[in-house]
Amino acid sequence: AEYQEPQDARRTDVTYDDLGGLGDTINQLREMVELPLRYPELFQRLGVDPPRGVLLHGPPGTGKTRLARAVANESDAQFFLINGPEIMGSAYGESEKRLREIFEQATKSAPSILFIDEIDSIAPKRGQVTGEAEKRIVAQLLTLMDGLEPRTNLVVIAATNRPDAIDEALRRPGRFDREIVIGVPDEKGRREILGIHTRGMPLGDDVDLDELARTTFGFVGADMAALTREAAIEAVRRIMPKIDLEEGTIPPEVLEGVRVTRDDFLG
Ligand code: ATP
Repeated sequence: AEYQEPQDARRTDVTYDDLGGLGDTINQLREMVELPLRYPELFQRLGVDPPRGVLLHGPPGTGKTRLARAVANESDAQFFLINGPEIMGSAYGESEKRLREIFEQATKSAPSILFIDEIDSIAPKRGQVTGEAEKRIVAQLLTLMDGLEPRTNLVVIAATNRPDAIDEALRRPGRFDREIVIGVPDEKGRREILGIHTRGMPLGDDVDLDELARTTFGFVGADMAALTREAAIEAVRRIMPKIDLEEGTIPPEVLEGVRVTRDDFLG
């Protein structure tokens, strides 16, 4: 039979250069994830087990998913994604089955990174208000983590913005025993993120990215991405009258001449 790409496997093209303001975080992940994935023999030689699970915590929109994709790509690993809330929606027994299947696929396709987004929704603290279904899924996840062979070249990265809401058993040694905190970017970080998102954008001479970074206190990466997208849409609106919709083409001088200006950014 013909070889079939595992359904959820993805080779992504995101690189570390596509992440702004995360220099330290990237270094930590390189050491914890990329190194063992690329050079398992080094860890074997030293006689230690490489990390199994890494927990990323930080506010929404700070680049956790993008970071996991970048590490996978830069480590030449397959990328598998589990979305917490999505997997919880399935019928009785289905969620555990899905989890088992994805772990199995990721193991087979190793080296791989299995990314669990919003892990708090699949592994909330047991005991409180958790129903039977949730308890079973947490248990299944723990079983799967514990069942990974030491030689399996697979790292599970989980993301949450509520680290204290997840079951403590997940943080025991051999499970998610490494944690990386991702914060809201500072001005320098925002400047880097702006640089990334305006990379392919024809900017007007009046656009001052330093100024924009200064005046966007509290913005996370997702907000900066939205800001640049909105600015581009403003620029499109501005040149719309110059486009002859009947004609169906944009005059080359209009296309060449289009710029995203300071006012477009300021909305
Ligand atoms: P959530 O917790 O809501 O899933 P997240 O932390 O996983 O969010 P991403 O989904 O990775 O965030 O980011 C959303 C989008 O925001 C990205 O696709 C990217 O365009 C932009 N973005 C976020 N953080 C950064 C960053 N540090 N550098 C560049 N772009 C970023």
